[in-house]
Amino acid sequence: MIPIITTIPILQLASGDRLSLQIYKFVGAKPGKKVYLQSNLHGSELTGNAVIHQLMAWFTTLADSQLAGEIWLVPACNPLGTNQRSHHFSSGRFNPYDGENWNRIFWEYVPTGEELMMLVQAQMDSDRLTIEQIYRQRLQSSFAQLLEQIQAPSSQPFSNQYRFLLQSLCLDANYVIDLHTSANQGLTYLYYFRDRQISARLFMLPIGILLDDYEGGAFDESFMKPWLALEDCFAKLGRKIQFDIEAWTLELGSAMQIDSTTVDRSVQAIKNYLTQKGILRVPAEPLPMPSLAAMKLVPHSQVKKYYAPVGGMIQSRVALGQRVEAGQSLYQILSFNKEGQMPTVVEVSAERTGIVYDVSINHAVNQGEYVLGIL
Ligand SMILES: [Zn+2]
Repeated sequence: MIPIITTIPILQLASGDRLSLQIYKFVGAKPGKKVYLQSNLHGSELTGNAVIHQLMAWFTTLADSQLAGEIWLVPACNPLGTNQRSHHFSSGRFNPYDGENWNRIFWEYVPTGEELMMLVQAQMDSDRLTIEQIYRQRLQSSFAQLLEQIQAPSSQPFSNQYRFLLQSLCLDANYVIDLHTSANQGLTYLYYFRDRQISARLFMLPIGILLDDYEGGAFDESFMKPWLALEDCFAKLGRKIQFDIEAWTLELGSAMQIDSTTVDRSVQAIKNYLTQKGILRVPAEPLPMPSLAAMKLVPHSQVKKYYAPVGGMIQSRVALGQRVEAGQSLYQILSFNKEGQMPTVVEVSAERTGIVYDVSINHAVNQGEYVLGIL
């Protein structure tokens, strides 16, 4: 397969130069589902770019008869974030104009309870595909109103223009995969939504975090929540229905680096997902599916982040991936003072048992700065 490559300008700079996105669309011989993948929404999170490159290289070896539907890929999806620097450090997690996290800016379709109820009552006996089509039309026409605001003479801030563009590429997708890494140093795992744990297993990753609480405006969340709300409303009226709509955020290791083992594992994860979902038909041996019990599934609300109680230098910290028991020492802070006293060492212990899944990249911490996460 040869992809259709489209370049879309997203931002004209004061100098007149332009930043653009490039979209690679692989279109199968048969119609089917649409899959959307993007990487590098946060500027320092690079692994997904290498993953997308390897997936594209693989797709080009396949015939279009082996793909049912379409796969759209957008590497380096946030050029403004990717190119941002402080010294040698990529700092592109926050929009420099307003300080917003790039992954908290996205638009979400929120119909009123009454609208939702009327739709569900009217479609109570319709088949799933019909309901999907009707709801998608409503969602799309609500989304289209954002364009009117952007095209008005008063226009909109860049983040609103940018989110419109990214979401216009994926709102009609069935499966959305957003490739991130830790902002620090992290394990490889995924975030998943309610009732999607069976599909989560297809990625064959050891850890899944269930998004059971929301900060609002994340890319996966904005895509998924309107569908969860629709499922909820059907359930309230007595019909159990689950739409074939899925969104995933994959966290692929550490920031500012591309580790080949992590890339290989991630490529395998996505290949397996696409194959098991019937998007790709490849003659490869089906991989043995790990049991749900083999995957550690943790609600997001139970993930514990540790922040420095005092300012200082982190030492003797537990390793990434290590299991810790409640009461076990997690790290020490070497704390200096300006009170004519010797420096002190502050011990910090685990509040509960778990696995260290993420650690700060910088061992110098101001008071209240993030140190590590346990799940
Ligand atoms: Zn990220």
